Amino acid sequence: MRFASLGSGSKGNATLVQAGDTLVMVDCGFSLRETTRRMARLGVEPGQLDAVLVTHEHSDHCAGVARLSRNHGVPVYLSHGTAASGRCDGSHELRRFNSGACFEVGELAVQAVSVPHDAAEPCQYRLGWGGRSLGLLTDLGCITPHVLDHYSECHSLLLEFNHDSQMLQAGAYPPALKRRVGGDWGHLNNGQAAQFLSQIDAASLRHLVVAHISENNNSRELAEQALATVLQSMKSVVWAAQADGFDWLSV
Ligand SMILES: [Zn+2]
Ligand SMILES: [Zn+2]
Repeated sequence: MRFASLGSGSKGNATLVQAGDTLVMVDCGFSLRETTRRMARLGVEPGQLDAVLVTHEHSDHCAGVARLSRNHGVPVYLSHGTAASGRCDGSHELRRFNSGACFEVGELAVQAVSVPHDAAEPCQYRLGWGGRSLGLLTDLGCITPHVLDHYSECHSLLLEFNHDSQMLQAGAYPPALKRRVGGDWGHLNNGQAAQFLSQIDAASLRHLVVAHISENNNSRELAEQALATVLQSMKSVVWAAQADGFDWLSV
């Protein structure tokens, strides 16, 4: 089982997960042309996809879903609430579930986990194959006991380090947007992400991917400072970039 990213951040997200013969994409916030180009860089093409799993209806996650699905006949899995937003209408096929559902896509075991975020019915995913498990966790304003329960003992984890609280407060965003991003239904700040890592067994992760990093309200240096409080070494840490994501990693 392996995973890679086409790009991560508020301008577009898409994560690829391959397990045995199954290839899925989680979210698609890029145009079809850009998606195809970025997939080629990772040695795969849209026609190989078995499914697109959507986390929520914000455009950085679903802007490219319907077109990708329609052009390549790929089914789209999404919560009832996300489907009701209409943002994935026009897809080849929508397969709706209740957030919290467990289901299978090909060889991959999928657990959808509800998260607090300002969308209709947002969920994140824990994916399992062959005794290994991968946690994908971005776009949430706080860590709930429910999230802690579902993301313990992952073998690899992709985790949001969206912003530094002080940078956000001192920055140029209007007050309402600062409250939104920094609130319990917004995005994780560096401190929250680091605290979450201290609550799970972060040292045993094969790969930790730092993801959905704000280009305006965060820096690698500040995220590293937060990580240093919970990790002895940065050797298993991978940084997900907006421009080119990251290359395949083995879960
Ligand atoms: Zn997002
Ligand atoms: Zn979002």
